[in-house]
Amino acid sequence: MFHRLLDALYPPSCELCEVPLQDGSYLCEACNESLPRIREPFCSSCGEMFEGNIRSEFLCPNCRDLTYAFRFARPVLWNSDNARTLIHGLKYERSLYLARDLAGIASEAFLDPRLTQALQERWTLVPVPLHWKREQERHYNQSQEIARHLGALLGLPVVPALKRTKATPTQTHLTRKQRLQNLRGAIALSAAGKRLNPAETKGIVLIDDVFTTGATVQECAQILARNQHENIVVVTVMRG
Ligand SMILES: [Zn+2]
Ligand SMILES: [Zn+2]
Repeated sequence: MFHRLLDALYPPSCELCEVPLQDGSYLCEACNESLPRIREPFCSSCGEMFEGNIRSEFLCPNCRDLTYAFRFARPVLWNSDNARTLIHGLKYERSLYLARDLAGIASEAFLDPRLTQALQERWTLVPVPLHWKREQERHYNQSQEIARHLGALLGLPVVPALKRTKATPTQTHLTRKQRLQNLRGAIALSAAGKRLNPAETKGIVLIDDVFTTGATVQECAQILARNQHENIVVVTVMRG
């Protein structure tokens, strides 16, 4: 009822082109389709896309020297102005209504054959945590909102298994090494995470909005791996 009243006052429209929409979506089909997707060839570890004719599985120069605690990360969107606008809207402008559309985009990651097993065995979706202080300012954790909608779309359980134990300064202008140092000891299992039995969990899909250097998901995956969780993978909306 309240929603219908709001819709009458402010008819929903596409976040990018402002065409009016009626299906509860805030991104029109044309704009959605125009967002560039990551297509092969891409790095089998981080999803970084490459031009050219690479047929076999390969690692980007960045991943060659790194060992991750997760098997691979599968971002869906390539870094574009429009993709950044949407992510930024959800993250900083309280455009919470975008979470469902972004989850719809993230669900395309599960078309990757490497994620078929996750669907079949109903792996657990775990959102990357946001510190409660920042969550209080923002009133929500964007990764958790994406995970919630993604879980509903795919029929997978969502467990906020991780929490931030200290507020880390914003990571935006830091190198990967600085980010990792910044994050040391900053993430721990939440109460829900302690209840998550590794013996009953076939695998975990970490959910975040953007994969940039991978430092945050690396820290998250390490905590889960230390607690006997296996088969940890990462799905994000965009490759930053
Ligand atoms: Zn549009
Ligand atoms: Zn890579």
